[in-house]
Amino acid sequence: MAKKAIVIGAGFAGMSVATHLAKAGFEVEVLEKNDQAGGRARIWQKDGFTFDMGPSWYWMPDVFEHYFAQFGKKVSDYYTLKRLDPSYSVVFGKGTADNWHIPANLEDFKNFLEEKETGSGKKLEEFLAQAQYKYQVGIKDLVYKPSRSVLEFADTRLLSALFKMDVLQSMHTHLRRFFKHPQILQLMEFPILFLGALPENTPALYSLMNYADISLGTWYPEGGMNKIVQGMQKVAEEFGVKFRFNETVNGVTIQQNNKIQQVITTKGNYFADVVVSGADYHHTETKLLPPKYQSYSARYWDSRVLAPSSLLFYLGIDKKVQNLLHHNLFFDTDFKQHAHEIYTQPQYPSNPLFYVSVPSLTDPSVAPEGKENMFLLMPIAPDLEDTEEMREKYYHIIMDRLENITKQDIRQHVILKRGFAHRDFIQDYNSFKGNAYGLANTLMQTAILKPSLKSKKVKNLFYTGQLTVPGPGVPPSLISGQVVAREIIKEFLY
Ligand SMILES: Cc1cc2nc3c(=O)[nH]c(=O)nc-3n(C[C@H](O)[C@H](O)[C@H](O)COP(=O)(O)OP(=O)(O)OC[C@H]3O[C@@H](n4cnc5c(N)ncnc54)[C@H](O)[C@@H]3O)c2cc1C
Repeated sequence: MAKKAIVIGAGFAGMSVATHLAKAGFEVEVLEKNDQAGGRARIWQKDGFTFDMGPSWYWMPDVFEHYFAQFGKKVSDYYTLKRLDPSYSVVFGKGTADNWHIPANLEDFKNFLEEKETGSGKKLEEFLAQAQYKYQVGIKDLVYKPSRSVLEFADTRLLSALFKMDVLQSMHTHLRRFFKHPQILQLMEFPILFLGALPENTPALYSLMNYADISLGTWYPEGGMNKIVQGMQKVAEEFGVKFRFNETVNGVTIQQNNKIQQVITTKGNYFADVVVSGADYHHTETKLLPPKYQSYSARYWDSRVLAPSSLLFYLGIDKKVQNLLHHNLFFDTDFKQHAHEIYTQPQYPSNPLFYVSVPSLTDPSVAPEGKENMFLLMPIAPDLEDTEEMREKYYHIIMDRLENITKQDIRQHVILKRGFAHRDFIQDYNSFKGNAYGLANTLMQTAILKPSLKSKKVKNLFYTGQLTVPGPGVPPSLISGQVVAREIIKEFLY
């Protein structure tokens, strides 16, 4: 008889582990509290607008291709990708000359940098050669390690090549070996923000993110990021995975042999040979397990560096907008100050950086004709008091800057508006301290130093997703599911 696996949560990681287990012969059910799959990448549809509620940047297309290939499928079986060109815009000041449109083509990008800093085009080549090697080693090898033992990383040839590149040096120091121009440095530090930590605290191994940005490009799945979710759900169902939506897991029963016997939800009880939680790790540990079965203490969790939370606004605009691209980074204020207010002295930012996405500029299907779909994101420290007043205050700060810099009225054209911040992250996803992107990828929270993908106390309980290995982001979540499935298959089938 097939072994039974229960997966908690239908985010990317939950769907990935479910499909890998089903392919290996497990009977798999996914229990999801919300009414749809996708987790942080679910959609909100209203009045003809379709909002991707979370991720908007499609990077590392090779990881998605690899994911579907393992099930005999191609990305193009589920959605059509378009490469964005320019990749994105970075607003560094008030004038249009301070607005950088980043060319997708590598030669054009090199020439673009050369105009800003003599010699930087050549330096970029050197920088990218290292970054490419790190990407190949990092994304094709290191991230697939379950990180249960330091011995997994004992390949000395590989390590010595990486150490020659000073991978443990900070990204901040590493970048300054190549570039001097302050805005080039800021541009190169931007991908690190996805990892949820300061460039000073992020190992230079992660220049692999610059390779992903510059060489592999920024893509968009036509119809929106949720097309990835829909594709993954279809593949999962084709392999026999059953999804149960609107079904919150409230607890488990544990037998004397330290194994979960049943998973208890709002609608019933499910027997399981193995359980994988794709829900936030801290939530699973502290709300679903009795204290004596928790692997980590409250002190452990409080000492973790979380990636930031976000204040988000989903906006329907009743006109077409000007002077904006699909992705726009507003870096026209002091990055250091905002970072300090996220990481070192958590508080509401005095003068925030923010990000604006307008996917309807690329894809008419996400807004009614003649209208625009707009998404505002302000990174913010986790665990702050989240009130309506604060949300409104920052809405107007962002809008003032957005309208001034892009020289148009936007606020009075907003016909649909929904805010989303800490309270919603907690309520909708059971997020620890209202985090948006899980744990920061600092050196002390990398690989074996992350919360383990296997429970230390419960023999048949595993974890997947952005709070365990390899870390936050959509591609790592897909990989996380695969890595944990491999461990389970080894332990339960062979
Ligand atoms: C605003 C925002 C923007 C982002 N932008 C990008 C981007 O541009 N590119 C990128 O690569 N990444 C981005 N990310 C990060 C990326 O979205 C996440 O790392 C990834 O989606 C995490 O997936 P997951 O499966 O680990 O977790 P989740 O998506 O959180 O999935 C966990 C699931 O578990 C469910 N659950 C929780 N508790 C229970 C319970 N008790 N019972 C049943 N179900 C439960 C939740 O409802 C949820 O569906 C962004 C994230 C956010 C929030």
